[in-house]
This record gives sequence, C-alpha cells and structure tokens, in this order.
Amino acid sequence: MAMARDPFPFGSMWWNAIEVHSQMKTELAKKKHQRGPWITSLLLPFGYGIFWLAGWDPELVERLYAERVFPPVSRLISWPARLLPWSLGELLLILILAGMVLSLMGFVRGLMARTPDFPWMLLLLKRAGGLFGLAGVLYASFVLLWGLNYLRPPIANTLEWPSEPPNVVELQGLCEALALDANQLRKELPSDERGVLRVDRQFVLDRRNDGYERLRGQLMPVLPASMHEPSRPKIAIFSPLMSRSLTYGMYLPWTGEALLNGSTPAPALPFSVCHEMAHQHGIAREDEANFIGYLACRLHPDPLFRYSGARAVLGEAMAQLWAVAPEAAKAIRASLTRDVLADEAAEAAWLHLHKGRFSRAQGRVYDGYLKAQGQVDGVRSYGRVVDLLIAERRMATKAQRDHKDKN
Ligand SMILES: [Zn+2]
Repeated sequence: MAMARDPFPFGSMWWNAIEVHSQMKTELAKKKHQRGPWITSLLLPFGYGIFWLAGWDPELVERLYAERVFPPVSRLISWPARLLPWSLGELLLILILAGMVLSLMGFVRGLMARTPDFPWMLLLLKRAGGLFGLAGVLYASFVLLWGLNYLRPPIANTLEWPSEPPNVVELQGLCEALALDANQLRKELPSDERGVLRVDRQFVLDRRNDGYERLRGQLMPVLPASMHEPSRPKIAIFSPLMSRSLTYGMYLPWTGEALLNGSTPAPALPFSVCHEMAHQHGIAREDEANFIGYLACRLHPDPLFRYSGARAVLGEAMAQLWAVAPEAAKAIRASLTRDVLADEAAEAAWLHLHKGRFSRAQGRVYDGYLKAQGQVDGVRSYGRVVDLLIAERRMATKAQRDHKDKN
C-alpha cells in the first residue's frame, strides 16, 4: 500500500500530538458522559437524607419550609404551567416516556443486528445509569418542591385541637349533621334526566377559589397568608388511565399543577377540585387535604360546592359508623333524600364500572407510596378526616360553652 509522503515532517509531529491530545479529551468526555447519570443517581440518597433529617423536627419544617420556602417556590414552579391550557406535567411525562421507548428500541435493534463489537454491556450500563439518574432528579426535586410538606406537624397539633379518638355518639352526631346538610343543599340544585346532580365543569373551575379566599384568613398558620392563588386545575390527557385506577385527581409537585380526571362523577367534582387545591396549598396528607377541601367547600358561597363537600365527608363518616353502629347508620341512610341517593348510586356505578385488576394493583402501589411518606394508614388515611371533623365540632362546642360561662 503506497502512502503519500509528508512534506513537513515536524509539522506532522505537531499535528499528531494535537490529534492524540484531542482523542484523549474525547475519551475523557465519553467517560464523563457515561458517569454523569450514575453521579446524578446520588440524588436518590440525597433526597432521602433530606427527608429523613427533616423528619426529626416537624416544627422547623412548618416554620421554615411550609411558611417561608414553599409559598414562593410553588409560585415560581407553577408559573410556566399557568401559561398553558393543558398540563405541562403530562407533556413532560410523554416526552420522558417517548425518550425511554426510543432508547430501548435503539438498544434492541443493536442487539438484534448481532454486530460482534456491539458494546451491549456498556450501553446497558449507560441506560441503567440514565434511569437511576432520572429517578434521582425526580425524587430529590419531589422532596424539595413539595414532599417536605408531609413532615409538617399534624393540623390538629398546629391548631391545638384535642386528639382523643372520637366515640360512637360523636360519630353519629357528625353523620346526622352532614346528612341534614346534604339533604337541604341538594334541594337547591338541578338534576339531569337520570335524576343525578347536574354540574357545569367550567363553572366549577372558574369558581374554585371562592371558598379558599374565605378560608385563608381563618386557618392560620395552616394556610399561610403568603400563599398565592394556585394555578387552574387541568383536565388530564390520561383521564382514562385515572378512571381505571379510580382516581379523580392528582397533584404534580414538579409543575404545581392539579390534574383532574375528565370523567369524574358530577357530584364528586367540586370537592375533588378543592381537595387537589389543598395539595397545591402545601397540605400533603390525604386526611388533611380532605378536611381543608371540605372547609373550602363549606365556606363557598355556592350551594353546589357546599353540597359536594358535605356528601364527600358524609361518605367517609358513614363508612366508619357502619363498622361500629350499623343500626344507627341504617337510620341515617334512610333519612337521605331520593336525589342524594341518586347521586350516591351514580358514583357507586362509576366505581363499579372502572374497578378491576388495574385499580387493585394501582391501589397497592399507592398504599406503599403513602406509607413511604410516613402515612402509616396508607390509603385508609383518607378516612381520618373524620377525626378532624369531630375535633373541630368539639372545639366549637367548647367555644359555645366558654361563651355562655362568660355571659
Ligand atoms: Zn389527595
């Protein structure tokens, strides 16, 4: 093989040196590129470490994180999503999933080509590193942007409410009061041709903040005064998937968005919006989001919200009364009007339609997620809203008694 002679031998040495140097730099860059995702995966233990450390001092989490850091941070991260009519979080999720599928396809194609020097082990390690790196970024940002709210002291402690477990008489009294509210409020509301509550979704979304405006000043410091109006909830593209997992709504901490299932049964919709808005306000625990969501509904000037809130927590309270005093529960159920029962039947039919293997599997995963955030009751923690409702009634009774004693 003939080779061309180099007319500038010293120049050639010089260029060779530059080439070798640049090759070394490329190799180094490649190695760095491969190590990068693995280094990012260290954010997993970092996020866990922050969560674990913060768990030692809930009061500090309340004063420093919930009152000072979370309000401006959530305002900042929710800003891009406010500009879009659809969910930014879902868009990012679709992009991530598409990237993962493309990457997997490239890897499988390389494997199938059976090229002898195909670096499958190196690529596999790179893909695994990418996945762990992504998990690290998502988890650490979840903890810092919202997850620390799980470690705030319980609302009952912050408000100095008594924490004794409710007795049967108190539970029955609560159910009777809520059933009375639901019956009376439902009379003011329209029904569709099936006799089920008619709800204008646009109206619910437009008026979602009215109850919260009244609540913000009343429940300090649970809802910090510095808390801004959260971004408008979005109807999820993944609504069919949410239906199959029996989910009405969810909160995305990375974009500050509340996502709503577009097929949520009408009677449950206003309360679901207010529940998700509680999460947007930094109320992480599910029982507390139910409680704050209910209070926002109860203070709402429109009976639609008041009804939706009353019937939602009535369901939780009745489930507990059935377990301890079935005869009393039967009597209260018999007192519900035909319209309230029609709404209940419509929601039960929706749940029955979508219940299945997927919802059971998702339920187990979600239960595990809640327990990992320190919510020992898992999915059953939603029902603990009843304890808060009864504690609030006790405080109201005590305030009345003190007022009488004074006069
Ligand atoms: Zn929730």
